[in-house]
Amino acid sequence: MDSSNDQLVAMMFGNGTTRANIAQIGSSWRQILCNHNNLPREASNVLGQLTVASILLSSTIKHKGSVALQVFGEGAIKLAFAECNYDFTFKSTIKLRKNLKNPNNLTFKEMVNGGKKGVFTVIIDQKIKNHTPYQGIIPLEGENLSEIIKNYLKNSEQIDSDLILTSSYKTASGMLIQKMPTKKDEEDLEWSKLKKIIRKIPLNFLNQENVYTTASHFFENLENKILKTKIPTFFCHCNIERTMKMLKMLGENEIKRLISSEKKIEVTCEFCNKLFSFDEETCYRLFN
Ligand SMILES: [Zn+2]
Repeated sequence: MDSSNDQLVAMMFGNGTTRANIAQIGSSWRQILCNHNNLPREASNVLGQLTVASILLSSTIKHKGSVALQVFGEGAIKLAFAECNYDFTFKSTIKLRKNLKNPNNLTFKEMVNGGKKGVFTVIIDQKIKNHTPYQGIIPLEGENLSEIIKNYLKNSEQIDSDLILTSSYKTASGMLIQKMPTKKDEEDLEWSKLKKIIRKIPLNFLNQENVYTTASHFFENLENKILKTKIPTFFCHCNIERTMKMLKMLGENEIKRLISSEKKIEVTCEFCNKLFSFDEETCYRLFN
């Protein structure tokens, strides 16, 4: 077992029509927090829970793609973004509006949706050439992030789901349960048992204990089987080529304008804080 607390376990119950995925991030989560200096409490909750949710949802995809979740907030949060790939590498970031008053006292609603126009989007990308990624958009309505994501799941998927999410400055954790479509009554009974269990799990237990302890503590009376265990890992794919491509997209005039004062352009990756510096000559070469 990995002591860093970056863990995912996927389980099935009975004959396999009901499933539970439990994810927790520890050292990876603290690294993400380090990349975002002094995040207010509720902003850190949104980022941690969004990151865990992206891991949980990507554990349900069958293709070699990714799941990205985005909060376009109208409140203190401009944007929160988390993406997890099929191999359980993930990254996330958050952007807050400037000059917030008492940011540590802001509630979840004030963080995400001051103007009631915010949206939550889910992008499922199979990463196949010429294949448009699936995009689902719903309003940011709910008392917390798990309610918003549950609303999305209810609207978009054909399968019953329930989800809990929690986070602190140390760890972020979550559990997703799902029931595949079936006609048999006995399986519905199993699903209703599972639904009752997830509602009873104390969030601080889920966030303090590792995923295996949570699984054995709450599912001991259900016939269960572990389908997979994974170690989700923070990983950023940024590099100099991608950054140059991005600069090129800004256009020659904009690059000339940016370089005129400092004689160089510096770009910091918003996910991992890596700094890319380009001198005048490199910038001119972009367009020649
Ligand atoms: Zn990066």
